[in-house]
Amino acid sequence: MTLLHVSAIETFYGPSQALFGVDLNVGEGEVVTLMGRNGMGKTTTIRSICGMTPARMGRIEFAGAALSGLPPHRIARLGIGLVPEGRRCFPNLTVQENLVASARAGKWTLGAVKSLFPRLGERLRQHAKTLSGGEQQMLAIGRALMTNPRLLILDEATEGLAPIIRQDIWDAIRKLKADGQAILVVDKTMDEVLGVADRCVVLEKGKTVWSGRPQNLTEELQGKFLGL
Ligand code: ATP
Repeated sequence: MTLLHVSAIETFYGPSQALFGVDLNVGEGEVVTLMGRNGMGKTTTIRSICGMTPARMGRIEFAGAALSGLPPHRIARLGIGLVPEGRRCFPNLTVQENLVASARAGKWTLGAVKSLFPRLGERLRQHAKTLSGGEQQMLAIGRALMTNPRLLILDEATEGLAPIIRQDIWDAIRKLKADGQAILVVDKTMDEVLGVADRCVVLEKGKTVWSGRPQNLTEELQGKFLGL
């Protein structure tokens, strides 16, 4: 079943148009990666889905319900958990306080997040601002999971993190996938993202220009669309 259906959305920042027709679908249990060079509209697509920069045209449906006109907190409550670019957490709250602040009933409890990210489990009483970048990203993912989302959205999942920590994040994403979690992910680490994705959606100048299975995203297409 299609969980998220995005059709022909057009989004603006004031008078300036950023999206010119983005289409994408995420099915139950599916991992989809949104790709494209810098400035092509990946973050704007995510902001449109989550209601932070609502689309002016087109349609977004989640679990069969239209999202247009809903504020971000209502969209989140329908079951979309966002890990934004820059991994925002409450800096002066402890790890545990950050996690429980967003909690909603479901299988993702403090204990479940601790077993996914043992490093967080060791730092429950530390203030979020004292964590490393990688630990803050684990916390941001943990916070999103504590809402027990039907769809997890990760914008720049591993950007700016040390290679060893990136591996921990990818391991966690693979575990979530194996557990049946639907995920929409943006990341520039091609090998990892293509290894975990069921499907890829490529944006160019604010428009979906290609979608398909990772094995069909040939080197030629990667060169053409992603400049690799
Ligand atoms: P990156 O990989 O660099 O994060 P992206 O694919 O996520 O890029 P977006 O950040 O969605 O791209 O940007 C799409 C377009 O919208 C770009 O032309 C960008 O300059 C513009 N844009 C993004 N944020 C704003 C904003 N707050 N105000 C005006 N224009 C913006």
